Amino acid sequence: MPADENCIFCKIAAGKIPCRKLFEDEYSLAFLDIEPASKGHALIIPKSHYPTLLDIPEMELGRAIATVQKVAAAAMKALHADGFNLVQNNRKAAGQAVHHLHFHVVPRFEGDNVRLTLGSKGAMESELAEWEKKIKENI
Ligand code: 5GP
Ligand code: ZN
Repeated sequence: MPADENCIFCKIAAGKIPCRKLFEDEYSLAFLDIEPASKGHALIIPKSHYPTLLDIPEMELGRAIATVQKVAAAAMKALHADGFNLVQNNRKAAGQAVHHLHFHVVPRFEGDNVRLTLGSKGAMESELAEWEKKIKENI
């Protein structure tokens, strides 16, 4: 995928704007989030421009996820984190602000009060059955 000239993460991938780089390989790049939700909050991106998880070819996705794993392991070790969240937003409705696929690695510390909880809206058995059927039919 060609770089998108209006995309901030394409500019970071191309070295046109600076970042606090943690790791890179041929296909992926990891750097610190400029507005961290917790100590060590990192972003992992494919170097090519794909808007969402649905757009990236499987090979490049695999490489990006391998980088997520490396960075998460390093952050856990280096910062003595007790856990981490992996967050990945797709499209505006889901809170995606930068439309270049990225994974958030958010290190977590006991009692840190970071709010990432999903909450439950609840569902009736009939609704669960309907969602199961419809989604399965589309896989
Ligand atoms: P989203 O809401 O799209 O999942 O998250 C975008 C993330 O990118 C935010 O956490 C935001 O702080 C981060 N971000 C936006 N612009 C920049 C930037 O120029 N540099 C860095 N390092 N992070 C950025
Ligand atoms: Zn981009």
